[in-house]
Amino acid sequence: MTTLQIDPLRAAVRGPIVTPADAAYDSVRQVYNAMIDKRPALIVRCVDVADVMAAIEFARANGLLTAIRGGGHNGGGLGTCDGGLVIDLSLMRHVRVDPEARVADVSGGCVWSDVDHATHPFGLAVPCGFISSTGVGGLTLGGGIGYLTREYGLTIDNLVSADVVLADGRFVTADERRHPDLFWALRGGGGNFGVVTSFRFRLQPVKMVYAGPTFWPMEQAREVLAAYRGYIVGAPEHVNGFFAFLTIPPAPMFPEALHLKKVCGVMWVCTSPAAEAAAATKPMRSVGTPLLDQQGDMPLPLVNGLFDGLYPPGLQWYWRADFVKELSDEAVARHARHGAELPSMHSTMHLYAIDGAAHRVGAGDTAFSYRDANWAEVIVGVDPDPKNAPKITKWCKDYFDALHPYSAGGAYVNFMMDEGQERVQASFRDNYERLSRIKTKYDPTNFFRVNQNIRPGG
Ligand SMILES: Cc1cc2nc3c(=O)[nH]c(=O)nc-3n(C[C@H](O)[C@H](O)[C@H](O)COP(=O)(O)OP(=O)(O)OC[C@H]3O[C@@H](n4cnc5c(N)ncnc54)[C@H](O)[C@@H]3O)c2cc1C
Repeated sequence: MTTLQIDPLRAAVRGPIVTPADAAYDSVRQVYNAMIDKRPALIVRCVDVADVMAAIEFARANGLLTAIRGGGHNGGGLGTCDGGLVIDLSLMRHVRVDPEARVADVSGGCVWSDVDHATHPFGLAVPCGFISSTGVGGLTLGGGIGYLTREYGLTIDNLVSADVVLADGRFVTADERRHPDLFWALRGGGGNFGVVTSFRFRLQPVKMVYAGPTFWPMEQAREVLAAYRGYIVGAPEHVNGFFAFLTIPPAPMFPEALHLKKVCGVMWVCTSPAAEAAAATKPMRSVGTPLLDQQGDMPLPLVNGLFDGLYPPGLQWYWRADFVKELSDEAVARHARHGAELPSMHSTMHLYAIDGAAHRVGAGDTAFSYRDANWAEVIVGVDPDPKNAPKITKWCKDYFDALHPYSAGGAYVNFMMDEGQERVQASFRDNYERLSRIKTKYDPTNFFRVNQNIRPGG
């Protein structure tokens, strides 16, 4: 692409445009997962809605493949593309809190630490994920699973409205009243329908939480996971705890004797006062013989940032996922077998509880179809060294293959890599056809196709 061709775009936008000729190109094009190495023709670092509109117009006029980048965390690298145009929203990171109305307006390029930072002083929070460096854009549009899901629902269950630039360049606000079909599709359908330049979220009254892990020796994994499946689904909704296979990192907060030990565990986050939370989690914490059982009062933003240091950008990640309704004894046994074979310190398997408030929304009420699943399972092979990519990938695929027959069929779209159309359809189930009709209405040429793609055509 010559300078001449880009000049009209340069004149139309206020944000920087980065091309392969720029010194900053290699750092700006990088996404969180270092397994992804894509080379866009240009990256438009938008600073406002007008920039987004100009970028879309330019991409359409030049027939460019177009990717939308929010936080850049997507496992499959769906925030970038080869040879096309990236609409990079990462300079649009403003949050406005209205404590009286209990809503926050969050710009499309924010990450969750931006939202935590802005809402926490008011004693309020948006139900977000488990890591604060993840983008609000991608996480929200796929659904949004996190520490507050059992009590306050998915992130989309707290979405009030969204400002969107559509494929034809129009700007609309979607909510229950205005463009309700688009609003339905945005809640789970991913980045298929336009560029969301601002999200309005309902805020929940959460400031401090009672949080921390319980770890057990790997040899007790079958007993612990069997107890967990029965415990968490019936637990009070102020209790959240995800199950994990992990390696205890060599961090000062853990006793040295446990460093680098492979364990199974539950990471607790409860919104209730300490005594109530401790009593409610006691039945699970009393299972077997824990190696470590350590919880305390913490600000929610601190908890959201606990894993940020362990998982900086630039690691190799290979992802597989499924929704799970029931954990049979055979599934528990298979988990224990594969969990014990974690191939690196960063690799892990998590089972996130998605019952409670998330179940009170109907399967057809938003695009997120699996409202009857009790867990979102995610298996990630992770390591800093590219040489270990084959090893972590193989472990992840073998683990997934062993457990997939015991799953509900589809997966959370935000935990998938590029796994093909069939898998996308399986993840939206009966909602896929309606999504496809809405896609036809708002993006008939499939302009936004760097995503878990919903094809137009009904
Ligand atoms: C370390 C880590 C932790 C995670 N933890 C959680 C978790 O706790 N809960 C959870 O639910 N998920 C979690 N995820 C998954 C996460 O939700 C997805 O990776 C998601 O795609 C990330 O969004 P992003 O904006 O950072 O990604 P990007 O790579 O920037 O974008 C991903 C996709 O979203 C679209 N998109 C992003 N922003 C916009 C926008 N403003 N408008 C339109 N489309 C947009 C893009 O087109 C692209 O298709 C985690 C991922 C990682 C890597």
